[in-house]
Amino acid sequence: MTRQRLLLEEMTWPEVEASIARGFTSVVVAAGAVEQHGPHLPLLVDAARGDRLALEVARRLGKTLVAPTIRVGCSEHHMGFAGTLSLRDSTFKAICTDYAVSLARHGFRAVLFVPSHGGNFEPLATMLDDLRDAVAPGCEVRAYTDLHGFVALWKEAVAEVAPEVVDRVGGHADIAESSEMLCIRPELVRDDLAAAGYVAGFDETVAERIFRDGFRAVTPSGVLGDARGMSRAIGERCIARAADGIAAALRSAP
Ligand SMILES: [Zn+2]
Repeated sequence: MTRQRLLLEEMTWPEVEASIARGFTSVVVAAGAVEQHGPHLPLLVDAARGDRLALEVARRLGKTLVAPTIRVGCSEHHMGFAGTLSLRDSTFKAICTDYAVSLARHGFRAVLFVPSHGGNFEPLATMLDDLRDAVAPGCEVRAYTDLHGFVALWKEAVAEVAPEVVDRVGGHADIAESSEMLCIRPELVRDDLAAAGYVAGFDETVAERIFRDGFRAVTPSGVLGDARGMSRAIGERCIARAADGIAAALRSAP
């Protein structure tokens, strides 16, 4: 028997049909972004991290395929920085709906959205009921929507590998995210340009300011946290921790 592929877009239609028949009836959809990530990381960070995260989550859930990552997301709060692309919430919702409806029509029984970009969490939470109404009966839609829980997973991971730099986890282009990129696309990390950004900590107040006034009002470099000290060891632990936490949450979601 040939090896089971998990990446939907690399499969043929008979392979997808056979996989569904064999019980691969769940599918993960990562929702990323193409947006600024400070002076040391490229714009594709959240899209590339979404590809990896979705695969890791699917492996943990078992019998789960991976749909193509939604590469551009809701990044209005990053538009103060050149190159950022942003979808309106209505566009993002339309894309998520069309993904879920398409997948459900082929017989998938669970469509699982995993945001790999902070700006997609709230829109996903808001649209979830409508997504559920839109898909064929018998298919459930779930989403991981705990942004602060996600940042907490990164903090735990960095604390395990390098406790002396755990205060450099800030949630954006920080030591956690930069370390992940050292694992995923190392040739794109300009590590000599890593510097401290806004380091006073990511909490509800900062999140509110960012979404209201834009990222640049809080951090002129576009960095929340500090990427100095990044390493592949930290990155692998961050990816694993995030995937563990998200898989567990998706398993127990209502
Ligand atoms: Zn990011």
